[in-house]
Amino acid sequence: MTGENKRYVIIHGHFYQPPRESPWTGLVAPEPSAAPFPNWNERILSECYGANARAHTMDGPLVRITNNYQWLSFDFGPTLMAWLSRHGQAAYRSVIRADAASIERTGHGNAIAQSYNHSILPLLSAADKDIQISWGIEDFKFRFARPPEAIWLPECAADASTLEEVARAGLKSVILAPWQGEFRAADNPNSSGPFIWRRGDLSLNVFRFDSELGGFVSFGDGLSDGARLAARIAERALSQPPGSVVLLATDGETFGHHKKAGAAELARALMILSENRELEITNCARVLSLGLQAGSFEINAASAWSCQHGVERWRSDCGCRLTHGTSQHWRYPLREAVDFVKRHADTLYDSIAGELLADPRQALRESIRLAIDRDPAAGEEMFKRHAVSEEKDRNRLMTLFEMQRAAHAALTSCGWFFDDFAGLEGRIVLRWAARAVELAAWYAPSIEPELLDRLRSITSNRREIADAATLYLSLKTREARGRI
Ligand SMILES: [Zn+2]
Repeated sequence: MTGENKRYVIIHGHFYQPPRESPWTGLVAPEPSAAPFPNWNERILSECYGANARAHTMDGPLVRITNNYQWLSFDFGPTLMAWLSRHGQAAYRSVIRADAASIERTGHGNAIAQSYNHSILPLLSAADKDIQISWGIEDFKFRFARPPEAIWLPECAADASTLEEVARAGLKSVILAPWQGEFRAADNPNSSGPFIWRRGDLSLNVFRFDSELGGFVSFGDGLSDGARLAARIAERALSQPPGSVVLLATDGETFGHHKKAGAAELARALMILSENRELEITNCARVLSLGLQAGSFEINAASAWSCQHGVERWRSDCGCRLTHGTSQHWRYPLREAVDFVKRHADTLYDSIAGELLADPRQALRESIRLAIDRDPAAGEEMFKRHAVSEEKDRNRLMTLFEMQRAAHAALTSCGWFFDDFAGLEGRIVLRWAARAVELAAWYAPSIEPELLDRLRSITSNRREIADAATLYLSLKTREARGRI
């Protein structure tokens, strides 16, 4: 069977967890709801990240152990990778090894980057989009020892300016939902891509995921029987002309955490599909290298894969929620409050780093390396490159980089996704905001009083919580106690 006769199947898993670590200690507090595990990261490591690294399937009387990451296209959120590198090293190494193995097999790695903090890119300024994407690329290069060819946009959230920043960063493709723009197919209307997007002299390849297959796996019982899943994917692919691409995308945690037998059933599906000579299980970069084109793409206004109201879920009471009867009036003022912290951090950074550095933007792009790589040589080299020799200037810059990282972390999408800010995810936002405010106060009068004023008007659906200011203060107190 020659390459031209094949259909290309891409199964993409977006692996991500809210950053549960304390901004001060780097430790995850006990989360009783994750019992019998100490916290949700540990539980999902067991059910999903580790389970996919060594998924067991029966092949007749034989047990086959598959590293699913060798077959999946995948992205791991940088903050999750940092946690895995410390607490889930076996799974971490399997992910890195799988990328190398996929390069051997297809010529292109299965891993793609993710912007650093899982923030909703269309809601950020162009400068912050650039930082998020640059940090995602830096993190990727550190872990996978190669540059990424594509990037996952958190929540698939995109608008024209997001795509511009992605293209400007030198990345070649993204994955979006079918409703995020106009896909003009050249001939096969069902193809997943690639569709070319152009603006001025920038261009990017857009793959659209197959929402029917995605729904079957994410919300249906697609993972209850791997053989049935393989049959469904093969049928979808073989109903299209040779050279077609079928792309299924879902949260990676679907494979084992959301669907309990998901890792093993996925392994069975991958085994069956890999033996079908009319199909090739691959990744976006490999498809691009074949020169396949499905048509062109125009993007709509800002949109995402889990809100029907553009990207409003992450800044307003748009109606998207999990539990009927809860109020999301808190979303807008919380966003305003965190944006206020971010603006303050930007002003401080620009004025102080502007005095110490010839190119403060470029230094901020590179600075994430200092948070990822504990090797002091990395810092030494960076400061030399930027001609900062004085110890006290280096220390000031380190504080400012950390302040920027905290302010970016406070904008993680998880804080707004759920029904209330007082859940585990909303607390992440408040704690990182507190950390950014604390660091900023080294160089300017603290903005905490004004932040508290803003937070005081934000009330929770949970009676025991009162308002966001009270929660903010109690989280800070708890952290301080934990550090004594
Ligand atoms: Zn919505």
